[in-house]
Amino acid sequence: LYNQMQDLKGNIRVYCRVRPLKGQANNHGIVGNVEEESISLIMPSKNGKEVKKIFTFNKVFGPSATQVEVFSDIQPLIRSVLDGFNVCIFAYGQTGSGKTHTMSGPDNITEETVGVNYRALSDLFNLSEQRKDRIHYDISVQMLEIYNEQVRDLLMIDASNKRLEIRNSSHNGINVPDANLVPVSSTADVLNLMNLGQRNRAVSATAMNNQSSRSHSCLTVHVQGRELTSGNSLRGCIHLVDLAGSERVDKSEVIGDRLKEAQHINKSLSALGDVIASLAQKQPHVPYRNSKLTQLLQDSLGGQAKTLMFVHISPEPEALGETISTLKFAERVSTV
Ligand code: ADP
Ligand code: MG
Repeated sequence: LYNQMQDLKGNIRVYCRVRPLKGQANNHGIVGNVEEESISLIMPSKNGKEVKKIFTFNKVFGPSATQVEVFSDIQPLIRSVLDGFNVCIFAYGQTGSGKTHTMSGPDNITEETVGVNYRALSDLFNLSEQRKDRIHYDISVQMLEIYNEQVRDLLMIDASNKRLEIRNSSHNGINVPDANLVPVSSTADVLNLMNLGQRNRAVSATAMNNQSSRSHSCLTVHVQGRELTSGNSLRGCIHLVDLAGSERVDKSEVIGDRLKEAQHINKSLSALGDVIASLAQKQPHVPYRNSKLTQLLQDSLGGQAKTLMFVHISPEPEALGETISTLKFAERVSTV
């Protein structure tokens, strides 16, 4: 049932979330009308008059949208993993636009403000419990980070920080054999792992100039189900990806490590855009090989898999340039 509902909406969806203006919840800044499926951007023009440009999405969440509202909209998509579907949810946008807020929540998380990651796992536990007379589910999680095109395990206990290889086997599909895959059965398990992941991310963030926004982090939930009467089994997974900040770095202003980081981020975000755009346009060749991120997610992008690109924008006037480029990225990968 969930999948029938989702299929009506297609396999690639693009949502937009507008962060509240800092300190002014009721002011939209450069964002004009916020509708169910579109926003307008107020742009200054040469003659001093304002020009409005409208951007259309599958769904828009305005500055006052709550974490509960966001989650309840994507709940069917997340639940489809228990029916054996693969799902990717990406948070895209410039640093400070609200990606981590959507996926994890703010720094001081409460039950009300906790983000998609925790809500998703908690919901999957609930639903698998409801189905337990019919299907037995095993749920396990992985947390990876991609920095400078290198994959690291965020669930390492010894913080060894070693580079991991992505493999493709006929039996397991795409996998990262050396990354910890941890069985979970309660929200307490999940909270512990998320804390470990956060700590490991903080360690590597120090190594990269305290810029955790310079890496992609990916929480993957693997689900295996076995139907009790028939013995039939199914497998699905969901990747919840907090992408590196999409802002352009001025090449004339950065050198060395910062320039290298910027080039790697640029490359992997455009590779991701290219993959989703070619899927959206139903092109025969999909260029998965051009970045570690798209290699890692190859099994979960295209085919029967479902993709949600959640673009985040900042409403401050000084963010206009980045907001326009974020919305252009969204238009390119969109099917609407
Ligand atoms: P990013 O991960 O894209 O760099 P953050 O999620 O860290 O951005 O958001 C930047 C700041 O704005 C944080 O303090 C965050 O709590 C706040 N924020 C982001 N989105 C929202 C929102 N929808 N409602 C309220 N505060 C938000
Ligand atoms: Mg962030």
